[in-house]
Amino acid sequence: MNYEWNVSIDKAILNNAPNVNKILEENPYIKETAKELRSKKLEVLGNIDFYIDKTEESVKRSGGHFHFAKDSSDAMEIVREIVKNNKNIVLSKSNVLYEIKLREELSKLGKDVWETDLGEYLVQINNDMPSHLIAPAIHLSKEKISKLLNKNLDKSINENTSVEDMVKAVRKFLMEKYLASEVGITGANAISADTGSVLLIENEGNIRMDTVLPGIHIAITGIDKIVPTLKDAFNEVIVQASYAGFYPPTYINVTSGPSATGDIELQKVSPATGPREFHLIVIDNGRKEAINSDLRESLLCIRCGRCYFSCPAYKYYGKDFGDSPYTGPTGIMWSAVTAKKYDKSLLCMHSGGCKEVCPMDINIPEIIEKIKFRETG
Ligand code: SF4
Repeated sequence: MNYEWNVSIDKAILNNAPNVNKILEENPYIKETAKELRSKKLEVLGNIDFYIDKTEESVKRSGGHFHFAKDSSDAMEIVREIVKNNKNIVLSKSNVLYEIKLREELSKLGKDVWETDLGEYLVQINNDMPSHLIAPAIHLSKEKISKLLNKNLDKSINENTSVEDMVKAVRKFLMEKYLASEVGITGANAISADTGSVLLIENEGNIRMDTVLPGIHIAITGIDKIVPTLKDAFNEVIVQASYAGFYPPTYINVTSGPSATGDIELQKVSPATGPREFHLIVIDNGRKEAINSDLRESLLCIRCGRCYFSCPAYKYYGKDFGDSPYTGPTGIMWSAVTAKKYDKSLLCMHSGGCKEVCPMDINIPEIIEKIKFRETG
């Protein structure tokens, strides 16, 4: 633990809890929606193959391409086949992209790959890993960021530069990358099985660029993001944004297939202005095995990041509590699901704060206790 981390995490805790409490007080429907969502996600876990097949049918019906990847190397093989010789690639924030080491693998192929979420961009130029699901650069102070930007982007930036001017410099750089991009790769906050739609929430506007400017959009996510209907998918993103402390989110992006128009005699033609190809890759990577084990309820997690801020182990150890990108209380569960890594569970102090705040009512301490048994035998 260092001073820089202490200051960052204290500020985050002070901001997050009051924000979320206010949102929940002012919008009492959100807690009810979270309960409904939990039951819909349990329904999917009980019938996962049915919902994967249904998603595939829906994606194909809307003119998209559907791919199922059993693990990370399978997912990367699919990505390589889609990307082919295209060189310029923009990415949006996604833990699954880290899970399959996407940026690293694409860079090895000589691609020009850029994170477009501000926090992820900072993590990229720092040769670092994210420390939080929704705030990946939370461990970097403003002073440290000014040095990074000075070294990597703009020599005129220094520790006296305002945050606004730092953001402006990054925006200018990324705009050139969007305009040159041939492939945009995103994660997904939710997928609706009935329409094959990918929902993504954000505040920055970068995901809009990533999903619309390049000719090819690839969304890569876990099978746990599938929910039965488009309404359930909207419910998931609303609950996620609320418990992350950002309600309403600035943007909710919905993608159902490639761009299309029906403006001439109502004949649907694709592509129109946006991407000519849309691909959805859903990845298993340990998730199906987890559904049939004592890790089952981990897959209800909607990655709101709320549990981090009520966790004394995360406050103390930071991103060492877990294996990045899966850190914090939920990260202990997700490292077990996707990488069979159990050792960091031993740092858990079982305060129970995570369970108290989780919108999906996941008994996180109980699951972590079971993970501890896996580690110690
Ligand atoms: S475990 Fe619960 S509180 Fe933590 S990120 Fe997942 S849904 Fe949010």
